[in-house]
Amino acid sequence: RNAGLGSWPERRLRISPDRDAIWFEGTTTSHAGFSERVRRTAGALAGLGVRAGDRVAWWSGNHPAALETLYACGQLGAVWVPVNARLTAPEAEYVLGHSGATIVIHGRDHGELADALRTPGAGVRSWIAVEPPTAGGADSLPYEELLAGSDPEPRDVPVGLDDPCLIMYTSGTTGRPKGAVLTHGNMTWNATNQMLGFDFGPTERTLAVAPLFHIGGLNGTVNPTLLRGGCAVVVRRFDPAGTLAVIEEQGIHSFFAVPTMLDAMAREPDFRTRDLSELRTIGAAGAPLPLPTLRTWLDRGVTMQQAYGMTEAAPGCTVLDSADAVRKVGSAGKPVFFTDVRVLRPDGTVAGVDEIGEVVVQGLNVMAGYWNDPERTAEVLIDGWYHTGDAGSVDDEGFLYIRDRYKDMIISGGENIYPAEVESALLELPGVREAAVIGVPDEKWGEVGLAILVVEPATRRDADAIRHALRERLAGFKVPRLVRFADELPKTATGKIRKPDLREHYLREHY
Ligand code: ATP
Ligand code: MG
Repeated sequence: RNAGLGSWPERRLRISPDRDAIWFEGTTTSHAGFSERVRRTAGALAGLGVRAGDRVAWWSGNHPAALETLYACGQLGAVWVPVNARLTAPEAEYVLGHSGATIVIHGRDHGELADALRTPGAGVRSWIAVEPPTAGGADSLPYEELLAGSDPEPRDVPVGLDDPCLIMYTSGTTGRPKGAVLTHGNMTWNATNQMLGFDFGPTERTLAVAPLFHIGGLNGTVNPTLLRGGCAVVVRRFDPAGTLAVIEEQGIHSFFAVPTMLDAMAREPDFRTRDLSELRTIGAAGAPLPLPTLRTWLDRGVTMQQAYGMTEAAPGCTVLDSADAVRKVGSAGKPVFFTDVRVLRPDGTVAGVDEIGEVVVQGLNVMAGYWNDPERTAEVLIDGWYHTGDAGSVDDEGFLYIRDRYKDMIISGGENIYPAEVESALLELPGVREAAVIGVPDEKWGEVGLAILVVEPATRRDADAIRHALRERLAGFKVPRLVRFADELPKTATGKIRKPDLREHYLREHY
C-alpha cells in the first residue's frame, strides 16, 4: 500500500527535490514545489469533503493543475475524471452524470458552461475555477485561494495499486466514449514501460502539448517523465508554429503527439529552420501514422518512435525502438517491457507470420474494466486479455503492424480492404492534405470504398485523375470506387477522423 500515484511526488522529494518538475508560461516549479502544491490541493479537496473513492472531474485545456489535481486525488484515494475540454454542456453532463463526479474543477474557458450545468440537487457539490473565468463562472471557487488556505501536511490515506486512480473516457472515435477505469498499478506499470521504451533520462524535458484529458497526452511521456524526475513543459493548446517555437526555446527532448499534430507542424514554414537539435524522440500514436509525415520528420533528423496503444491499456502496448525507426518504418514496434501482445485468428489461435488478425493485449497496464458497464467490459476483457478490435499482423522478427480497426474495414467482393492503407497512399499524392476512406453499400460488390479528400486550394478536384494515380500504387480492388471532395473532415479532440459522422453524412447524401 501507499505505492500509488499520489506517493510519486513524495518519493521524488527524497531524491531530487530541486530539479525542474513543471514549466508553464514562463514559470518553473521544482519537484519540491510541485509536491507542496499537490499536498495543498489534496488538503483543499479534503476540505470540500472529498473522500476515498469519490470522483473529481477535471474539465479544462492543458494546465499544470491537471497534474496537481490528478496527484492530489491519488493521495486521497479519490478518482480523477478528466473531461474533454471541447465538450458542450449536454455532452459534459453525460460524463459527469455517468462517472458520478461530486466536484468539478474547470478551466477559464468553461465558466459559462459551469453556470449552465450548476443545477440545485444535481450530483456536483462544488465547482472550482482553476483561473478567473473569461466569462461566467462567478460562483465557482477560486483554485489558488483554496490552495493558499489549505495545509501542506502529507496525507496518510492508504492507497493500493489495485485501487482506481482515474476514469478516462475513450476518444469516442467509434461511438459513445467508454469510461476506462485505470488503477494506480496501471499508472505505475505504464510509466515504467514508457520510461524503458523511450529511454527517458533523469533530466528529461518533455512537452505536454497533446490534451492531458486524453491518455496519450497524460501518460505517453508526461507522467513517465515526472516519475523519472524530469520536467513537463505544459502548453495550453496546440498550435503548430507555437509548438515548434517552444520545442526550440525550451530545449525539449521528447513529446507525444498524434499524427495530425505532426503533419500540421511539418507543414509550417518554420519547420525547416527551427533548431530541433535537443529533440531526441517523438512518440507518435493514436491513429495510423502516414508514411509521408513520418519521413518528413526523419529527414529533419528527429527520431520518431511509432507506438501503439489505447485508453484501456493506459495506453502503451508496443513501441518501435529508436534504433529500428528507419529500418522498420511503418511498424508500431514490439510489446513494451511488462506487456504481452498477440494477434489472434477468429478461432482464438495465434496467427502466423504476417497473417492479419485481432490484436489482443495483456499486462499490468490493462484497465480493470469500464466504469459501471459490466456488459461492455465482458465483451473486451476475455481470459485476462484485452481485445482491441484492431486488425494487425506480426512479421518474422516480431514487429507489429497495425492495419486498421475492424469496424472500419471494408469488405468488397470478398476482399478485405484496410482504409488506413488506402488513406496513406492517397496522402502521398501531390496536393492531398487529408483523406478518409469509408465503405458504402454496393449491389454488386457488397461494399465499395468512398474516399473523401481535402486538397490544397490550387489542386484540381479531379476524381478520375486521383483514382488513376492510385492505381499505380495499389491493387485495383483497393482503389476507392467513389471519390468526393470536402473542405474539412470531422475530427475528435485527439485529431482522429470521425468515420461514423462521415458514413452518416455520405449515406444520407448519396443513397
Ligand atoms: P473509441 O474507443 O471511443 O471509439 P478510440 O479507440 O479512438 O475511441 P483511444 O483509446 O484514444 O480511443 O484510441 C485507441 C485506438 O487508436 C486503438 O485501438 C487504435 O485503433 C488506434 N491507434 C492507436 N495507436 C495506433 C497506431 N500506432 N496505428 C494505428 N492505430 C492506432
Ligand atoms: Mg477504442
